[in-house]
Amino acid sequence: MTAISIQNLSKSFGKKRALDNISLDIQCGEMVALIGASGSGKSTLIRHICGLEIGHAGESRIEVLGSPMQDGGRLSAGARQMRRNIGVVFQQFNLVGRLTVLSNVLLGNLGRIPAWRGTLGLFTSQEKQAAREALARVGIPEVAWQRASTLSGGQQQRAAIARTLVQRSSILLADEPIASLDPSSARRIMEILAAVNRDEQITCVVSLHQVEYARRYCPRIVALRDGRIVFDGPSSELTNQMLVELYGASSEELILPDAPSQPAKPKRVTKPGRVAAFA
Ligand code: ADP
Repeated sequence: MTAISIQNLSKSFGKKRALDNISLDIQCGEMVALIGASGSGKSTLIRHICGLEIGHAGESRIEVLGSPMQDGGRLSAGARQMRRNIGVVFQQFNLVGRLTVLSNVLLGNLGRIPAWRGTLGLFTSQEKQAAREALARVGIPEVAWQRASTLSGGQQQRAAIARTLVQRSSILLADEPIASLDPSSARRIMEILAAVNRDEQITCVVSLHQVEYARRYCPRIVALRDGRIVFDGPSSELTNQMLVELYGASSEELILPDAPSQPAKPKRVTKPGRVAAFA
């Protein structure tokens, strides 16, 4: 089944073309990296998939799990409901600093329970248990009662992922989730996302500035340049020459010192359309 289907999506901010006629299908269970230089359109694309931005009128269409999220420049009537099926993790973590970590994770339930219960913080024992399990899943059960503001950046990002796990969404969008983290925290976050994708079969779309993390953890890479898809295929097919064209940097600058020689293996569900628009 197709998790995310995007057709003819364009978006401009004033005169700036942020997305230019994007068409992309992502199958259920895939782990896909969106890469590209800063300003290439990665965040804008993620914001469209979860309905936070609306594409231009015309033939643009985004479907999530077979239902329209937006169509011809309009958010569909069911978009609010559909957003509950999409967990989103941002670079800034977006935790409530004065609340405990457990309370923050419990907030992942908000879309699924009556609003009054969430507002009063009345969660069932099963929901609390699920939140504790989610914290264990991301490897930080011991910080459940700490204030979120006391956590390190890597721990905050793990808590943000735990919050999406209690949401029980089948799609996880992560927008630059490791951009502000040190290399070891960044690796841990990518390992958690890869494990969630593998074990819970959650479709993951991760925007990354750091190419080697994309190559290491994501079997499929979609590269954007100036709002256009210039590569879509197995990570093993993304050459250093393409990267140099994409980022305008020498390939050595883009390689992690401890990067493995073998990129992530494609899974059987992965059937990316191949696009390579490098001249
Ligand atoms: P990336 O995530 O790859 O860094 P973005 O999707 O954030 O790129 O941005 C793509 C382009 O769209 C950039 O030129 C950016 O300045 C512009 N852009 C994104 N959001 C807005 C906005 N809300 N208002 C104006 N310009 C925007």
